[in-house]
Amino acid sequence: MSLTPSNNLSFTDSGTLYSSQFDDTYFMDGKGLEESNFIFLGNNRIIERFESEKELIIGETGFGTGLNFLATWQAWRQSPKTCKLTFFSCELFPLDPKTQRQALALYPELSELAEELISKSPRSRTGFHLLDFEDGQVQLLLMYGDVLDTFNDCQLKADAWYLDGFAPSKNPEMWNEKLFKQLAQNSHPGTTIATFTSAGFVRRGLIAAGFDMIKTKGFAGKRHMILGTFEPGTRRFRQPIPSWFSLKSSKPKNPPIIIGAGIAGCSIAYEFKQQGIESIIIDKHPAPAGAASGNLRGMIMPMFTKHGNHQELLSLSGFHYVNQLMKKLEIEHELSILELDLNNENTELYQHAIARHGEDFISKLTSTQLKELYLELNDTHGLLMPHASVIKPTNFTNKIFIASEATYKQAEIVSINKTEDTWNVVFSNGESFSSDTLIIASGHESPKLLDMIYPEKLVNLGSLRGQVAHFPATLLPQTDNLPAIYGEKYLLRANDQFLLGATFHEDDPETELRESDFDDLLDSLKSMIPSADIQAIKNELSGRCSFRGKSKDYLPVVGPLPKISYYKENYGGSKRTHAASRMDDAEYEKGLYIATAFGSRGFTTAPICARILVEEILNERYLINCDLRRHLHPARFLLRRLRRGE
Ligand code: SAM
Repeated sequence: MSLTPSNNLSFTDSGTLYSSQFDDTYFMDGKGLEESNFIFLGNNRIIERFESEKELIIGETGFGTGLNFLATWQAWRQSPKTCKLTFFSCELFPLDPKTQRQALALYPELSELAEELISKSPRSRTGFHLLDFEDGQVQLLLMYGDVLDTFNDCQLKADAWYLDGFAPSKNPEMWNEKLFKQLAQNSHPGTTIATFTSAGFVRRGLIAAGFDMIKTKGFAGKRHMILGTFEPGTRRFRQPIPSWFSLKSSKPKNPPIIIGAGIAGCSIAYEFKQQGIESIIIDKHPAPAGAASGNLRGMIMPMFTKHGNHQELLSLSGFHYVNQLMKKLEIEHELSILELDLNNENTELYQHAIARHGEDFISKLTSTQLKELYLELNDTHGLLMPHASVIKPTNFTNKIFIASEATYKQAEIVSINKTEDTWNVVFSNGESFSSDTLIIASGHESPKLLDMIYPEKLVNLGSLRGQVAHFPATLLPQTDNLPAIYGEKYLLRANDQFLLGATFHEDDPETELRESDFDDLLDSLKSMIPSADIQAIKNELSGRCSFRGKSKDYLPVVGPLPKISYYKENYGGSKRTHAASRMDDAEYEKGLYIATAFGSRGFTTAPICARILVEEILNERYLINCDLRRHLHPARFLLRRLRRGE
């Protein structure tokens, strides 16, 4: 056996990946693909179901090398391709690309698919990540973390289960009653299940959780394996989504109207188009990206917090998603951003982040290494994000807009009203547009539009004023060598200029450029590039000011808008302390949605939020962590007020 240096992983003589931590191989030595096809695809009748079903949702425990997924995708390719495949899987110890590639090299017939999988796989080691293949007809939700945590936080209902994972005797922590319950929770009557093991406690546990199980002949001389169907009878299971955030799809009958042509609005139109629906975008500017999405440059990067909070989780899922989108739409970008810890406050945070995500994803740079990047900063360290990128926001937004094939209408909206199930949007020239589906994606102007619909304040929204400065690139001596830098402020090269930004003022409506803001920006430039000739730069400074939407808790606001009276009646007053399981499902304003408050991270998080929103509207499902999804829900502010008794 040849040992790889990390992760207790090695390869057997016949090339099968082996974990010394679990003392088990990832699949049967030398027979992995046959084993997958026999145990998981065969027993779940996957090939047959690809021919008869419109969609198949397959769940798996332990993604490993991805072989089971690849075998399934290959079978899908050989099917009539009329069935959409959604595959979700969890993994506590994601493989690095090199090991994964080597493990899959045993199956050259899968090499094309394996390469696509590896190239699209997230480089971070935590979070929920959505990967699209075959133009979205095959989608993979990779959930990094322990199976018990990830399935608990997942709303998908599997049609078929691949119950994999190292042998129960080698991985007893995974195979237990909790897991069986979670499989049941993520199943519906008729869900099938197959596993390689015939261990008695697994069979009994699955039966106790509601599966009808039978023993059958095992693979390659093994005496038995088990398979079954979920028949829960009258058993009830915990729902991962509380009733006040329940899902309700409402497929548009008319082209949806999206208000706002920034990155949020264009991304929503794009996602609708992926599902065959063309929308109408309305904006007061003559072309997309006229407001906050219109700076000279923008950054696409994850954000890190000490313990990985919701902002970090969203930024990771969003970061990974937008990177795929940039590749697919061939959006120009320049890789690598360096974060500077100018006040030496982030030592611990960086340590935690690197431990969570791995050195391939982010790495720490010492002040000596910073000097090699032309940054003369003593006692300062930095965080290098080689996969983060700098983009041209207008170009980026336009590409997404063009791919959305949406109709663009320039207009100033003066009122919004509803007749029966139709939303009417009235313009200043008296013209109006109507649809059964209306989505507000208007950044900091969203509250103004909500005021036209709601008599009282529903969502805690505000604005962030951001002023940026531009100056000729020749004014910094290190011009051509500097990396894209993000310290307290960012410094990005934009052809023959530098973009220095942005100030950050909450609920400050001043539209004129302010001298004091330029001074703040220059102070921060001085801290990043001590040798900069600030006076010379000041003499040649120009700038731009724009406003971004933000919410009170700094997380985006995405989803259906609640019916206030229903919420008050059902979740407020004496019912405010009741458990969600005792409450009726939420009622929303039919066909009305919002996607806003992306703050200064819209290019990283708005595309994934658009995907989430459109999936919910059309398919009534969450494609990210339920807990995170709840923290983005527009009803969260109202609910918090009701729970406090206000
Ligand atoms: N299905 C895989 C494939 O196609 O390559 C093989 C799976 S391998 C036998 C088992 C996998 O389960 C390993 O990748 C292991 O890291 C993962 N695993 C083990 N315990 C886990 C847990 N508690 N939560 C999530 N994944 C786990």
